Parts: sequence; structure tokens; C-alpha cells
Amino acid sequence: MEICVNGVSKIYGKGESQIIALDQADMVIGETDFLSIMGPSGSGKSTLLHIISGLDTPTRGTVTYNGRNIHRGSDKELSALRRQKVGFVFQQFHLLPVLTVRENILMPLLLDRRKPDEEYLSFLMEILGLKNRLDHLPGQLSGGQKQRAAIARALSAKPEIIFADEPTGNLDSRNGKEVMELLLAIHREMKKALVIITHDPRIAEQAGRQFVMADGILREVERL
Ligand code: ADP
Ligand code: ADP
Repeated sequence: MEICVNGVSKIYGKGESQIIALDQADMVIGETDFLSIMGPSGSGKSTLLHIISGLDTPTRGTVTYNGRNIHRGSDKELSALRRQKVGFVFQQFHLLPVLTVRENILMPLLLDRRKPDEEYLSFLMEILGLKNRLDHLPGQLSGGQKQRAAIARALSAKPEIIFADEPTGNLDSRNGKEVMELLLAIHREMKKALVIITHDPRIAEQAGRQFVMADGILREVERL
């Protein structure tokens, strides 16, 4: 799947209190790309990610998946597209505390009434080291395990692209490193496109293409 971001702007508020959170962003994400986005807090990174992934709508501009405008069409179509094509990993994990690890991981499928592919799920549990944690509640897991469960949830519906918003931001360096290695392995071996927002230059540098954001302006870093 190719994602094209064309002149996307997001403006909050009106008149004097107007904020240009995103200023005419352009970006093409290829089928097997690994992109990183760095930039200070408030520069528009989350806004960009939310719009590219269909969680939010742009004020101007378009986002297409294989030529199809994802913001045109009903909310129902949009959320179905999102659940089928896109997986998310967040800094705060966002696991539902009253559901078991297994139920959390299956949630994207349940919402679309899709049957789980048990063989695929058991492969995911294996590579993510969650086999003995499936009946636990998120509160019983360590930070690293929570993020691995969130990665399993992001992958359960077999998306084509993973968006990760500071996936190591809440982890110590050892767990952060492990989570990054898993995301990289998933990108390389499962051939998923990967877009990572990070404050860590060492993570950003591992990406095939690096972007920086400042005051709503997105720029690709030229490679020497
Ligand atoms: P992070 O730096 O981790 O992305 P932010 O502080 O930028 O966290 O904000 C997290 C979320 O809160 C944003 O994605 C946005 O939806 C919301 N948000 C941020 N700033 C505002 C604001 N001024 N008014 C309302 N919502 C906001
Ligand atoms: P980042 O992810 O880089 O921290 P955000 O995308 O969260 O930045 O925010 C970019 C700008 O847009 C910030 O100035 C933030 O305060 C503003 N913003 C984000 N969400 C909202 C919102 N829902 N309402 C008003 N302002 C917002």
C-alpha cells in the first residue's frame, strides 16, 4: 500500500487564537518504508500521525491509500479501513485495563467481527514472548510486556503499516531497546511499513528516511 500525503494542513481555532498545527505537509510512504519523525513537543507530530492514519481529519489537503482518499466516505468506512490497514503503538500503551492480554490483542478483530487466525496469533505470541501472559490483566504486566502486548494488538488484524508514537517513551533503556528491535524485525521480516515518532536520535537514525518537524512544518532530512 502506498500512502500519499498532499498539502495537508490542520488549523485549530479562529482569529487571534488560531494555531497552525500542520502547515502543508507532503509525504509519500512506500510499501516497505521505515520512516522516523523527530521534533520538539507541540511541533505537530501527533497531529500529522492522526491525520495520516485517519484518526483525525485535515483542514486542507488529502491523504490517499493506493489512490483512495481516506477522509472522503462515511465514518464507518474510514474506521473499517483504519482497522484493516493500520496498526498503532502508543507511548502510553492504551491497553484496556479490565480486559485480559488476549482480549486486548483480539480487540481490532472483534470490532470488525473478524475471526482470529489462531496460527498467526500464536506465532505473534511466540515472537513477542507473551505465551504465558495471555490470561493476565495489563496491570499485572511490566512496561516492556505491556508494550509487547500493544504491538501484538497492532498486528492482530494483519495491517500493512504500523504507526508508533514514541513507543519507547515510557520504557527503561533495556526494554526500549528490546521493543525497537521487535519493531525493526517486524518491519524487515513481516514486510510492514513502519512510521515512528521519536525523541531519540539513535532510533531516528535507524530509519531509511528521516523527517523533522518544527512549528507544523515537515521536512525530510537529506542523506549525505
Ligand atoms: P505528545 O507530545 O506526547 O504528542 P501532546 O502534549 O502534544 O503529547 O498532546 C497529546 C494530545 O493532546 C494531542 O495529540 C492532541 O490531540 C491533544 N492536545 C494537545 N494540545 C492540545 C490543546 N492545546 N488543546 C486540546 N488538545 C490538545
Ligand atoms: P506534538 O505531537 O509534536 O507534540 P501536536 O501535534 O500534539 O504536537 O500539537 C501541535 C500543535 O497543535 C500544538 O500547538 C498543540 O497545542 C496544538 N493542538 C493539538 N491538538 C489540538 C486540539 N485538539 N485543539 C487545539 N490545539 C491543538
